[in-house]
Amino acid sequence: MTIECQNISFKYGENLVLKDISIQFEKGYLYGVIGPNGSGKTTFLKVLCGILNSNYGKVIADKLNIKKLSIREIAKKIAYVPQSTLINFDFSVKEIVMMGRYAHVGRFSQISAGDKRIVNDLIDKFNLHELIDRSFNELSGGEQQKVILARAIAQQSKIILLDEPTIHLDIQYQIEFMELLKQYIKDGMLIIIVLHDLNLASQFCDRIFLLNDGCIKAFGSIKEVITRENIKSTYNIDVIVRKNLFTNSIYVTPLRKRVPSTLQYENSNKLKRIHVIVGGGSALDILPKLKNYDISVGIVNVLDDDYILASELNYKIISEAPFSPISEESSQKLKTTLNGVDLIILADVIFGKNNLENLKILNEIDKEIIIIEKTPIENRDFTEGIATKIYNDIKSKKKVKTVNDLQDLFNFE
Ligand code: ADP
Repeated sequence: MTIECQNISFKYGENLVLKDISIQFEKGYLYGVIGPNGSGKTTFLKVLCGILNSNYGKVIADKLNIKKLSIREIAKKIAYVPQSTLINFDFSVKEIVMMGRYAHVGRFSQISAGDKRIVNDLIDKFNLHELIDRSFNELSGGEQQKVILARAIAQQSKIILLDEPTIHLDIQYQIEFMELLKQYIKDGMLIIIVLHDLNLASQFCDRIFLLNDGCIKAFGSIKEVITRENIKSTYNIDVIVRKNLFTNSIYVTPLRKRVPSTLQYENSNKLKRIHVIVGGGSALDILPKLKNYDISVGIVNVLDDDYILASELNYKIISEAPFSPISEESSQKLKTTLNGVDLIILADVIFGKNNLENLKILNEIDKEIIIIEKTPIENRDFTEGIATKIYNDIKSKKKVKTVNDLQDLFNFE
């Protein structure tokens, strides 16, 4: 079982919404369709199941061109669940699930014992016993979605298309719903689901189709599609993409769109290159805010949280192997870098023997420095007072300014 689009284009009036899409979906996979609002996701699903007729190209389901099939024949192959299901009449849950069988019931025939058995099995499987006699319209959003999915499964089509079914569900129902879908994938179904939530898509889908402005921006594995570059160029937002070690899936964290335009600081109009002395995650809140500048960081150990964030932000990094003291080579790099920057920011770093060299070098440099001091140095000095002494020397210099929070110096747009 496959469903395939060959050169699909679709227009609403003059508005070309799908642009020459060729793509193939296969059974046994859960496909997530993602893309910004208005990129054509809903339209794509509607074209796939024949609710909308493409202006150009064809959809082939199970080797047949769907344009040549009746609505009832399509329904036997493809179940489509729209974004919201408005039921005007007061149907019970059982009646709603039974509706899934209508594609199979002949025009003049009755619901058979076989149809009833399928519906009862689903009521078991979806654990709907307590709900069966209740009115569909009185159920919660999560319960309604479950019932609608049961109705789609009752249709016994091998392909299911779902348009944002999880959007009104709380986190527990979202996971339950996605896990139900996974079970049907194991049974050999082909499910295509439009999802807004990139993290839900990364956690559960096998393949992702990223639509942008009616075109295929990317199609493939989660790793191939959900990348910082793809998200940035389609959603117009900068994100950090990382692997969750617990679920082994990728997760996306958006960075704030509003970035500071300038640092409100003497000579800040000339400010271009900034070096930040970081370590132990002390600069996690600062680094994203400095995106408008040419930033370098270090000396920091590889795998330190500040190191990871700085590398995701594509900043230059002077680094050292994990748990190693600062080498002569890195010291030289830091000196050269510091001599070339317009400003140095010293984050609220904890100092031990391994990173003390940062302070020593900083003390030798005659540059403008902003010290961010959230915690008194004595409380983060693990060098028996050496760090405190150097730090206080630096702090007493004329070109050095100490602030509580760097945020105070930013002028937000
Ligand atoms: P998405 O699901 O990605 O948000 P849609 O497929 O709903 O995107 O819409 C794609 C584009 O088509 C949008 O610009 C939308 O305004 C337009 N559109 C959607 N439905 C209709 C319609 N029934 N008539 C005219 N234009 C529509």
